[in-house]
Amino acid sequence: MLDYVDLEADLGREERMVQQTAREFVEDKFDPVVADHWVEGTFPTDLIPEMGELGFFAPNLEGYGLPNLSEKAYGILMQELEAGDSGLRSMASVQGSLVMYPIHSYGSEAQKDRWLEAMGRGEAIGCFGLTEPNHGSNPSSMETYAEAEDEGYVLNGTKTWITNSPIADVALVWAKDRSDDDTVKGFLVETDRDGVETPKIDEKLSLRASITGQIELSNVYVPEENVLPGVEGMKGPLSCLSQARFGIAWGAIGAARDCFETALEYGKDREQFGKPIAGFQLQQEKLAEMATQITTAQLLAHRLTDLKERGDLQPAQISMAKRNNVRMARDQSRIAREMLGGNGITADYSPMRHMANLETVYTYEGTHDIHSLIIGHDLTGIAAFE
Ligand SMILES: Cc1cc2nc3c(=O)[nH]c(=O)nc-3n(C[C@H](O)[C@H](O)[C@H](O)COP(=O)(O)OP(=O)(O)OC[C@H]3O[C@@H](n4cnc5c(N)ncnc54)[C@H](O)[C@@H]3O)c2cc1C
Repeated sequence: MLDYVDLEADLGREERMVQQTAREFVEDKFDPVVADHWVEGTFPTDLIPEMGELGFFAPNLEGYGLPNLSEKAYGILMQELEAGDSGLRSMASVQGSLVMYPIHSYGSEAQKDRWLEAMGRGEAIGCFGLTEPNHGSNPSSMETYAEAEDEGYVLNGTKTWITNSPIADVALVWAKDRSDDDTVKGFLVETDRDGVETPKIDEKLSLRASITGQIELSNVYVPEENVLPGVEGMKGPLSCLSQARFGIAWGAIGAARDCFETALEYGKDREQFGKPIAGFQLQQEKLAEMATQITTAQLLAHRLTDLKERGDLQPAQISMAKRNNVRMARDQSRIAREMLGGNGITADYSPMRHMANLETVYTYEGTHDIHSLIIGHDLTGIAAFE
C-alpha cells in the first residue's frame, strides 16, 4: 500500500496491529460484499458485532472495556476502514466519536455504565442528531426543543440526514431547553420511546452503503437522567464534531489510497496499443500526481495526530486537514476512475463508488466552504459566516 515517505516505519506495535487487523477485516469480510450493499443501498449490519469484537468502536477511549489505544492507532483504523468504503468508516465514526465520545466525556456514571460497554461491543448502536431540515451549516439555529415536565423533558422536532438512525438503539439529540433560556443540551433518547420515528432516507446517490435517516420527535418524554450532565451550549456538539473530523481527515486518505492502488494495478494489467496503459506518460503523470497528493495528506494527518497526542490540537487545524484531505480524495478518486476507462463506471471497481461517497464526506461534518470560513476566521480574526 502506498507509503511513499515511509511514515509507517515509525508506527508502534499497537498501531501496526490495528492496521493489520483492520486491513484483514476489510479485505476478507467487507470488500466481498460492499458492491452489492452499495447498489442495494444497505449496510452489512451482520458485521457490526464483529467490528465491536475487533475494537473498532471508540478504540481511543479508556475504561468500560474499551481498548484505550493511541490517537494514531485510531487514525490508522479510520484510514483502513475508509479504504473499504466511506460508509464503513462513517458507521464507526458515528458510533465512536459522535455518540460514545460525548457519553464518555459528558455523561453520568449511570449513562456510561448503560451504554459504553454495549456500544463498544457493537451490541447497541447510536446515532447523533444535530442537523435539521432547515439548519445544516448553522446548527445553532436549531428548532428542536425540550420543555421540563415531570422530572424530565418533553422533546419535539425533526433531525435529518442522521447516519444509522433507522438502526439505532439510542439517539443523542441536541435540542434547546426552553425552560432554561434555550440552552443547547444533549439528550439520550432511546429510539423505542413513544413518539420517536426514524424513517430511512432512500434514493441517495452517495454513501449508499450506509443507512441514513431522520429522527422525528413528537412529544417524546425522557427522564432527567437522560440529559448529558457535563456539557451545555454548542460546545457539546462541536467538540464531538472535532473528534469525528479528525477521523475523517485520516479516513479520506484511505479512500484515495484504495483508488490509487486500483488504478495502478489496472494500469499495469490493461493493455492498449500493444503495451500496458501504465507505460504511457499521460497515465504516469496521473499516478505521480495521485501518489503525491495522497502522501502530502498523510503528512498532514500524521502531524495533526502528534498535536492531538500532546494536547495541542486546535479546531482550525482539524478544519484544515478535513478540508484538504477530503478535497484531495474527491479529486483523486475521479482521476482513478478515468484511468479505468469504461470499466471504471461499474460497481466491479471501487473508484467510482469512492468518488460518489466522497460527495457526502465533502459535505458532512462541516462543508468544505464552512471549513474555509473557520480557517479564514482563525487567520484573520474576522468571522465571515454571516
Ligand atoms: C449521507 C449524510 C450523512 C449525514 N450524517 C449526519 C449525522 O449523522 N448527524 C448529523 O447531525 N448530520 C449529518 N449529516 C448532515 C450534514 O452534516 C449536513 O448535510 C451538512 O452540515 C450541511 O448542511 P446542509 O445539508 O443543510 O447544507 P446547507 O447548510 O444548506 O449548505 C448548502 C450550501 O451552502 C453553503 N453555505 C452554507 N452556509 C454558508 C456560508 N455562511 N457561507 C458560504 N457558503 C455557505 C454550504 O457550504 C453548501 O455548499 C449527514 C449528511 C449526509 C449527506
